[in-house]
Amino acid sequence: MKKLINAPDSVVTDMIAGLVFAYPNVRKLAGYNVLVRADIGSDRNDRVALISGGGSGHEPAHAGYVGRGMLSAAVAGEVFTSPPPDAVLAAIRAVTGPPGCLLIVKNYTGDRLNFGLAAERARAEGLAVEMVLVADDVALAGSTDRSGRRGLAGTVLVHKIAGAAAESGLSLAQVASEARAAALAVRTMGVALSPCTVPSAGLPGFTLADDEIELGLGIHGEAGFARVPLRSADSLVDTLVSKIIDAGEFDRTGSVALVVNGLGGTPAMELAIVARRAVIALEELGVKVARLYLGNFLTALEMAGVSLSVLGLDPARLERLDAPTLAPAWPSIAGRPQDRVAEPETTSPDLHSAVVTPLSPSTETGHAIEAALRHAARALIAAEPSLTASDQAVGDGDLGISLTRGAKAILDGLPCLPLDDPAATARALGICLEQALGGTSGPLYAAFFLRAAASLDQRPGDWAMAFEAGCAAVGDLGGAARGDRTMLDALLPGSDAFSSAIRSGIPARDALHLAANAARDGAASTSAMTPRRGRSSYLGDRAVGHPDPGAEAVAIWLGAILP
Ligand code: ADP
Ligand code: MG
Repeated sequence: MKKLINAPDSVVTDMIAGLVFAYPNVRKLAGYNVLVRADIGSDRNDRVALISGGGSGHEPAHAGYVGRGMLSAAVAGEVFTSPPPDAVLAAIRAVTGPPGCLLIVKNYTGDRLNFGLAAERARAEGLAVEMVLVADDVALAGSTDRSGRRGLAGTVLVHKIAGAAAESGLSLAQVASEARAAALAVRTMGVALSPCTVPSAGLPGFTLADDEIELGLGIHGEAGFARVPLRSADSLVDTLVSKIIDAGEFDRTGSVALVVNGLGGTPAMELAIVARRAVIALEELGVKVARLYLGNFLTALEMAGVSLSVLGLDPARLERLDAPTLAPAWPSIAGRPQDRVAEPETTSPDLHSAVVTPLSPSTETGHAIEAALRHAARALIAAEPSLTASDQAVGDGDLGISLTRGAKAILDGLPCLPLDDPAATARALGICLEQALGGTSGPLYAAFFLRAAASLDQRPGDWAMAFEAGCAAVGDLGGAARGDRTMLDALLPGSDAFSSAIRSGIPARDALHLAANAARDGAASTSAMTPRRGRSSYLGDRAVGHPDPGAEAVAIWLGAILP
């Protein structure tokens, strides 16, 4: 177990102390792990109070939903353990005025009993208390019987709807009735990719093989309905959506709110990928998504996975969702996929528009450039695995893939290049690589070719000068100098060797061979250099012993130009 905690038995109290610092407008009840709205003192008497809670480990549920327009208080139990009735009762006493109090409880036996007993005791004290159970899980729903269903992320939508209803001044019976209707109308199902570890247990609650996932599991790691091999995000989402739709009578002509909820260990990128398909899948079924809420709403510690909740909407319910709230974990802006507009057109030039007309070379130079580009590009593609390994050792491992992408773009664009015009070709290459490469190499190679093109415009046929100009552009843009352990430590020796060979009257072909050899030696010499530029510089002396991948790439393409 690797966790940022102090001790397993202090996680909840330490967390609450942090949340009190982070969340404006909440305060802790002395002696209890209960957070209440700090602004509720004087005006608590004129609104129905709302309380939720349960075991901890589901953050930001439920403390993150405390605030005007949502909950009045949240009661936090130990991790995945229902809080005791006296904590719930303390919360009720703290926030309940004459209009009464509604408890929103996820359908787990422990929560039902602890909140139920607290409600009973509060009623005995003369307070008006009602309870709404949320049982939105459809994973295990073979029948229409909801008693065995669990409460999942749909609970947060119930908080929002009940919170807006209470804020608008409705009676306890009216707020409870809206909350109950919403609880009945929301359906949720999730999928887990990895388990989670309760701090006091120290071991994961279950295990999954590398390629295995659990469909429909609960937020404490309870079993779902099937353990299946990992599939694409789209295919998994389709399964979740069809289960959810099959389980409920959604008005297909109406619209829904969709919650794409991360279970705690899911990258935001993957949640967005899931959201994309979920919206499309629902729309393909004729269900319009009026609101999309994307994020971590009700989690299971560090579990990787996602749940989808779908709530049928009518205009009144939509208004409740859109009503303002000060609860810190409720997104103030929700997606409106139903109203989305087409992506605006962009007008960025591509390789094909940057060149004049499609041409086959007719000059000797044109043919030589075509062959050189083909050979260089193929050599980079062939070197992808070794460049990847090299960049993994000292960088982030993307260089082989980036250069392959650039090389393929060059091969694709080759038929359209004005190969008989070296300056125009260099310019087109610069634009092509700027678009295709990315990373650090992208802009550097683009600068190299654009500056070389400008030099060839001024002094047509002066390849040595163009090479030098390209190197200078890389230095100017990247700020690196010889010896900084970058691509320049191959480019500069190559350019120097080429220029001095040409100056001594050596034929261009032989000069190119000398340049390639010098670049290869230069790349090899980077093994002994400490990086001062780029990502490798974070490694410092730990990079020593490995050559610089960008310099190796230069040696590869320069060496391949002539077969
Ligand atoms: P990253 O993934 O770090 O953005 P790439 O993988 O595209 O970059 O390229 C890494 C290579 O870029 C390095 O091996 C190095 O040769 C080169 N490089 C990094 N920084 C510079 C710089 N400032 N000037 C010249 N070359 C650089
Ligand atoms: Mg890289």
